[in-house]
Parts: sequence; C-alpha cells; structure tokens
Amino acid sequence: MSDARLRDLGRRAARGGPEDQAAHLRERVKAGEVTREGVRLAAHLGDPVARLAMGWTHGIGDMHPLDSWLTGLGRYPGALERAAVAVGRAVLGAHNATCLEHGGDRCPESCWQWSRALEAVEAWIADPTEGATRRVDEATLALVRAGSPWIAFAALVRALCGLGRQPRPVPALGGKFWRQSGLTEPQVRDVVRSALVPWALGVL
Ligand SMILES: [Zn+2]
Repeated sequence: MSDARLRDLGRRAARGGPEDQAAHLRERVKAGEVTREGVRLAAHLGDPVARLAMGWTHGIGDMHPLDSWLTGLGRYPGALERAAVAVGRAVLGAHNATCLEHGGDRCPESCWQWSRALEAVEAWIADPTEGATRRVDEATLALVRAGSPWIAFAALVRALCGLGRQPRPVPALGGKFWRQSGLTEPQVRDVVRSALVPWALGVL
C-alpha cells in the first residue's frame, strides 16, 4: 500500500467508526508502523479497535478473570512492568489525596518511599542499566524495611527487574499486589488499559 493510500485510510478512520479504524490499524501493521504483537496486546487489554483488527468477535465481557488477564501480560516484554507502575501510580494518587503528610517522612504508609520506588522502576523501564537496577534494589528494600503496606509491590517489581530469586515473575506474586491495591477490578483494568494501549500501538 502506498503512503498516500495509508494516509487516506487514516483520514477516513479519523472520521469513521470502529470498522474504519480497525482497517486503518491493519494497514499500519502491514506498513510496519505497528507490530502484530502490539495489536494483539491492545486487543488482550480490551481495546475495541484492536479486537476488531484481530478479528476477535467475542465481547469484552468475555475477557479473562483479572488474575489470568494480568498474567497474560507476561507474554509481552515490558508489559507487566508498565502495568505494575500504572497501578502503583493510581494507588499513590489515591493515597496522596488523603495523606496529611503530602510526601513528608512521617506518613505511616511511607508514601515518600513508595514514590521513590515508582520513580526508580520508571527509570529502569526507560533504561535498564546496572545503576538503574541498583536504584530499584535500594528503593524497594527501603519499602520492605519500613514495613510499608506496599511490600507486595516491592516483591513484584523486584522479580520483574530480575532482583528476585526467580528470573521471571511467578504469576501468583503479582496477585497480592493487585488485590491489595484498594482499586476495584474494573479500575485496575482501566488503569492498565489506559497506560498500555498507546504504548502497545505506538512502540511495541
Ligand atoms: Zn502518605
């Protein structure tokens, strides 16, 4: 397909419905702008256009239960890390709305350390150097030492960053974190979908 034809499909998709957008997405895959894996991940996450592009006709209500839905992200390199950070950010945001310390060091939930750990993981995702791994190590151990309620997050990201005993995360390890996040199941799905779909259809 020529660039002009792809642009034309793009314009039609912008004005049209999901079918037009799915057709455009399929052409973007052919043109090498988006990978098939990226579209598959977006479809797994529940993006309606990606699901149409994949030819998945079963409804979004038939998606896997939360635990296996999250475990399924493990197939896509980088997805679980991003999901963990997205949920972590949402939890921290909800906490900060009520925390009187506003990041001060007397918060009983150690939110300043939680914030530091999230930043360390984000830096590691952007560039997983030895130094970045060391900073995740330090920041997550600080959470554990503080007896923070976010130890489950620390355990999950330590495994994801190769600091745990397992080279790859044991699926069950994450379960505790998602359940303790205080977010409802639809909220977890929404947060993860919003964070990961643009990434999946952009760079993956
Ligand atoms: Zn706090």
